[in-house]
Amino acid sequence: MRLIFFGPPGVGKGTQAKLLSARMNVPQIATGDMLREAVSAGTPLGLQAKEIMTSGKLVPDDVMIGIIRDVLSSPKCSRGFILDGFPRTLPQARALSALLAELGISLDRVINFIVDEKEIIRRLGRRVSCRACGSIFNLGVKDPGGNRVCPKCGGDLVQRDDDRPGTVIKRLKVYHQSTTPVRSYYEKLGVLIDIQGSGSVNTVHEHIISLLNHT
Ligand code: AMP
Repeated sequence: MRLIFFGPPGVGKGTQAKLLSARMNVPQIATGDMLREAVSAGTPLGLQAKEIMTSGKLVPDDVMIGIIRDVLSSPKCSRGFILDGFPRTLPQARALSALLAELGISLDRVINFIVDEKEIIRRLGRRVSCRACGSIFNLGVKDPGGNRVCPKCGGDLVQRDDDRPGTVIKRLKVYHQSTTPVRSYYEKLGVLIDIQGSGSVNTVHEHIISLLNHT
């Protein structure tokens, strides 16, 4: 199974990719998570990406394409993958098509998550993630307790720097300018499915499973 989870920040791609990855036993390839790990580890990639990410801009295409080339060519992805956060620009989408052709494989589906922008801004304002295990929570929905401790592993729950209100607006602007054209690219290739991402986590998950089984 080779999938792309597509849509603006805060639409639920990461949460849904994690669930599907566990259910189908294919890896979630989340470029944002990979970059955040590089920032924490202080690698050259992390040093390059840190400021760009904090300001809500995009890391250069050649850097991202290089990362994806390494991951998709590795044995980890031999059973398939769920790309979460890539491609985000037309050059990235074209480079991915060329890479897949080179590897002799093709995409099955691109799932485009749709959520009202006001709801996205509300969700991102309440999103926290666990510093230790990476689980994502929405304060007040899946109440992890007032002391912001991860109910799964006991790690600290923190808000991402780029989920602060000013940066969220910038990220949504960047999404509309640079990432929206990628949707049409996949629509023309005939692999795009639009889904409503505004239901509960489980409802959206079951919807994805049924779409994958019936389309
Ligand atoms: P995300 O966790 O997917 O919201 O990504 C967080 C940040 O990482 C983005 O706002 C970008 O700065 C950077 N990033 C992640 N994926 C990409 C990508 N495919 N192209 C460029 N920048 C990316």
